[in-house]
Amino acid sequence: MVDPLKFSRTAPTSADYSAGEGNAEYIGGRGACVTERQHKITAPVGTNDHRYQISSEGLLQAVFLAGDNPVLLVEIRTRKILACNAAIERVFGYRPSELIGCETEVLHVDKQSYQAFGEESDRVLYQGSGSYHSHYWMRRRDGARFPSEHLVQLIYDDDGEPYASISIVRDVTETGDAPDIGKAHDAQETGFRALAKSLPGFVYQRVRTPDGTDRYTFLAGGLFQRYGLDPDVLRADPSAFFRGVLEPERHELEDEIGRSHCLLTPIDMEVRFRVPDGPVIWLKLMSQPRRLDDGSVAWDGFALDISQEKDSEQRLHHLATHDQITGLPNRYQVMAYLEQIIAGVRRRKGRFAVAYLDVRGMTQINEAYGFARGDQLLRCIGERLNGCVGPRDLVGRSHSDGLLVVLSIDDISLADALRRLQSVFDQPFRLADDAMISSSVKIGIALYPEDGSTAEDLLQAAHTARDHARRTPDCEYAFYARELGAQMRVRVHEEQALRDAIEAGELVPYFQPQRSLADRSLVGLEALVRWEKPDGQLVAPDAFIPLAEETGLILALDLLVLRKVAAQIKAWLADGLSVPVVSVNCSAHQFRSSAFEEAYRREVISAGLDPGIVGIEITETSLGSDFAAANRIMNSLVELGVRFSIDDFGTGFSSLGSLAQLPFHTLKIDRSFVSAIGTDGRQRAITESLIRMSDALGLFVIAEGVETSAQETRLRRLGCDAAQGFLYSPAVPAADVRGWLRTVAGFQDVAVE
Ligand code: C2E
Ligand code: CA
Ligand code: CA
Repeated sequence: MVDPLKFSRTAPTSADYSAGEGNAEYIGGRGACVTERQHKITAPVGTNDHRYQISSEGLLQAVFLAGDNPVLLVEIRTRKILACNAAIERVFGYRPSELIGCETEVLHVDKQSYQAFGEESDRVLYQGSGSYHSHYWMRRRDGARFPSEHLVQLIYDDDGEPYASISIVRDVTETGDAPDIGKAHDAQETGFRALAKSLPGFVYQRVRTPDGTDRYTFLAGGLFQRYGLDPDVLRADPSAFFRGVLEPERHELEDEIGRSHCLLTPIDMEVRFRVPDGPVIWLKLMSQPRRLDDGSVAWDGFALDISQEKDSEQRLHHLATHDQITGLPNRYQVMAYLEQIIAGVRRRKGRFAVAYLDVRGMTQINEAYGFARGDQLLRCIGERLNGCVGPRDLVGRSHSDGLLVVLSIDDISLADALRRLQSVFDQPFRLADDAMISSSVKIGIALYPEDGSTAEDLLQAAHTARDHARRTPDCEYAFYARELGAQMRVRVHEEQALRDAIEAGELVPYFQPQRSLADRSLVGLEALVRWEKPDGQLVAPDAFIPLAEETGLILALDLLVLRKVAAQIKAWLADGLSVPVVSVNCSAHQFRSSAFEEAYRREVISAGLDPGIVGIEITETSLGSDFAAANRIMNSLVELGVRFSIDDFGTGFSSLGSLAQLPFHTLKIDRSFVSAIGTDGRQRAITESLIRMSDALGLFVIAEGVETSAQETRLRRLGCDAAQGFLYSPAVPAADVRGWLRTVAGFQDVAVE
């Protein structure tokens, strides 16, 4: 053998060796862990220049088995120490750096025993045994001798030649395990068990007999003691261990054992294991199978508790991927995330945005409040951002003042997403010492796929856009200036403008009269929204309603119109005028929540108006097919006395029958039918039957877009109740409506304009 010299008092007996070999099987033996596992690491060690091939498993195993006992790696040819662990200092008094490169003689009690040891080691080598266990006297740095126990294992090179040994040394002074040659196997076994006890895990031998039953033939280790487990339980029920392994590792382990059983391949896995009545820990499982004479397969192996390593691995991973100040993912992590979502989004041809946020005035904040508070502010911003983004979005940190946000824009418009980001800065931030700091932000935006197809390009584009925003006064956000992104930019600006207009109340209702076809009396008014821009420009709804629908702004828009219409009716009534039903147009979006109903109660009923005075028009197409939700909300409004009209009837595909399930009062025949009525006999026939059916269903019928008296006459003959169109009047401002209202109030023969 190799290192630490055979002890000096008594010569070793053969029992020492044979028993040692037997024991060594438990830790794997030569075949188990060293030569056949070819995961090698190359380490420049020792004093020689050439590089040694060291079996990583051999080292690993030794180090783990050692607990806090010294481990020595010694070159056989020169007997020089190539490596040793820190525990060497506790036992021998030398620091590792002092011993590396020295011959092992310094650790032996005298030259004689060192030489005797050399002879012994040669003998072991010639016997071809790879490892053994025995006791020696050794010497500390201060000259004191002490009894020690050794587990030694040889390491072989690629040609099968031993070139180094690994020794685990245990000082047995205190345990009283003084070297006592002759106790043979029992002593070795006890010694080994004692070593195994210091193992953070357990060592085992598990045998599967040809009939498939498993049993443990050896079990020892610190894990049992640590968690108060009884190894006998495991012995009695060998599958108990597997039940503690969590999925998916349990399945993988079972597969691995199956393979190992057939092919005699070693097992090397990391699994999570729930200690009965204890925590979940990480175990590293390593074992080597071999076939026994009776056909059974035996695995010699160990399970090591590597939870701490895993923890620090995860901590290291966190350190490497997260920003230290904010705890947010760092730039590399954001890149990795981007690469991942690019792959997914490309497949489904989707899009997303990368926003680069520049927190304004960080330098001044740091100067005025100190760096600690500056850091805290960034942390607060990071937290708020995380609170406002969607589940698929990612907030990260790029550099000193920069924050990165990856925004999914599948379910939310980009403008909305941006607004959310900006809203984070609406309120000042309260720091730990209750200091309040206000901050603002400039945002650069890059869009996938327009502005880049790789993570790198997108970040670069967002950065460029951020720089642009930074340079431009009053610019809160900027897009990466690439032509493909232009449309998006225009849209976002338009959307912002519309949002501002709604907030500023620049949207106002105009009114168009609905007249009875019997006597042209005023039966109703339709409120049609107009955008009165501050510069005097009047914008028709077709220019902004589609955008409002797409962005969800339609909800706010309709509520604004409702409020203004209610206020207008109130004003007319206050002036002593009679007011017919005034209908507002309402997006079917409103009927997916109760917000509109609440607004109606608030604006109309609580305002003291007749509950039925404001009618509601909903287009056939916007209703979609989910009538159930719409039905619920419509009904509760109908109970209040509200009248609903089906708008643009005939442009969609719904049958009158299906629409009649909903509580409609009025049907409005679309302009396209009306304009065709004079020229197209077929359309006329359809219109006629439509009017008949509506009649039968008890619906009031209004024809839209009536421009000529010929159309008026035809419609009257077809039995249509009322009409609306340029023939009578286009939609006009509220002030122009007064004249008509007086008519209703009793002035009989007022000419229709
Ligand atoms: P709509 O509800 O079908 O309104 C009738 C449209 O036809 C109005 O256009 C009206 O000015 C126009 N019109 C009326 N008589 C004639 C005519 O004789 N000939 C022709 N060619 N057109 C006529 P407007 O005001 O431009 O509104 C367009 C659409 O915008 C409306 O169609 C309605 O769907 C929507 N809309 C208007 N205001 C609102 C609103 O407050 N909320 C919602 N959600 N949509 C609105
Ligand atoms: Ca309408
Ligand atoms: Ca219409």
